[in-house]
Amino acid sequence: AAKLADGSVCRWTPALDERSTAYARIGAELRTALDTGQFRMVYQPIVELPSGRTRAVEALVRWEHPARGVVSPAEFIPVAEQNGLIVELGAWILETACARLAAWRRELGDAAPARVSVNVSAKQLARPGFAALVARVLADTGLPASCLVVEVTETAVFEGGPAVTTLHELRALGAWIALDDFGTGHSSLGLLQTVPVNTIKVDKSFVDNITSAGRQTVIAEALIRLADGLGLAAVAEGVETAEQADALYRLGYRYLQGYHYGRPAAELDFGRMPAVA
Ligand code: C2E
Ligand code: CA
Ligand code: CA
Ligand code: CA
Repeated sequence: AAKLADGSVCRWTPALDERSTAYARIGAELRTALDTGQFRMVYQPIVELPSGRTRAVEALVRWEHPARGVVSPAEFIPVAEQNGLIVELGAWILETACARLAAWRRELGDAAPARVSVNVSAKQLARPGFAALVARVLADTGLPASCLVVEVTETAVFEGGPAVTTLHELRALGAWIALDDFGTGHSSLGLLQTVPVNTIKVDKSFVDNITSAGRQTVIAEALIRLADGLGLAAVAEGVETAEQADALYRLGYRYLQGYHYGRPAAELDFGRMPAVA
């Protein structure tokens, strides 16, 4: 236990200690990782039903640590957000993902997915100049703005904050906005009034038990009605089985993403038509 300046005592549990050590270590290593090219992007299909075509892909970052192997973004993105490196890492992610879709479009023409979804963190969005960065990346890669979807979680966007201004700038450019993990936060419905949203991504927690007649199913049904009524696209996330896909299709979902259709991968085969619900 450590005595703090105000006289209070701070007790470190081993778990806390371990966590802060890991935080510090990851933070120090992220800089090197960025400088030596240890990050790479993988892409997960977002499938349109009933055609089974991959209409979009979500770009997800991976860190190939020289000693520890692949580190999950759930582990290092929060650290990068905290120490500010997310700004530089996020710019690299945006550039890499846009260049990737531009290359698929050149190679595959109409068989390429229409859009790439890029996760953007609160820190990136709140910085002035983010929309200008997006505009520059689109110009450099030759990707039309309407091919880019910016995925934001509602914790990144609070009403009247700088992130909302950025989102309006992005819409003005022609990019799309998706609300990620929709329904899991405190202000999902409120945000639909203030943020220029095109798509809601219905969180996996509403999909997990979709095949049984429980509360999650009622919520998932209400969310697709809400999206339809507002003229928004809805993507159901974390679809792992054919039964879930079938149940979601019957509720009215037309865009599905999850291991059932494909895990995130560096290369995707857009010619292959996955099983249709
Ligand atoms: P997310 O944006 O909600 O991404 C979806 C996560 O669910 C991904 O994990 C994906 O691999 C996983 N997933 C997809 N389908 C299934 C499924 O059927 N079952 C299960 N169990 N999981 C599925 P991943 O790639 O580990 O990313 C975790 C989180 O890290 C992301 O959640 C996102 O918040 C963050 N993240 C990942 N890549 C980036 C990035 O490039 N930038 C930023 N800012 N955050 C990122
Ligand atoms: Ca996402
Ligand atoms: Ca999500
Ligand atoms: Ca998530």
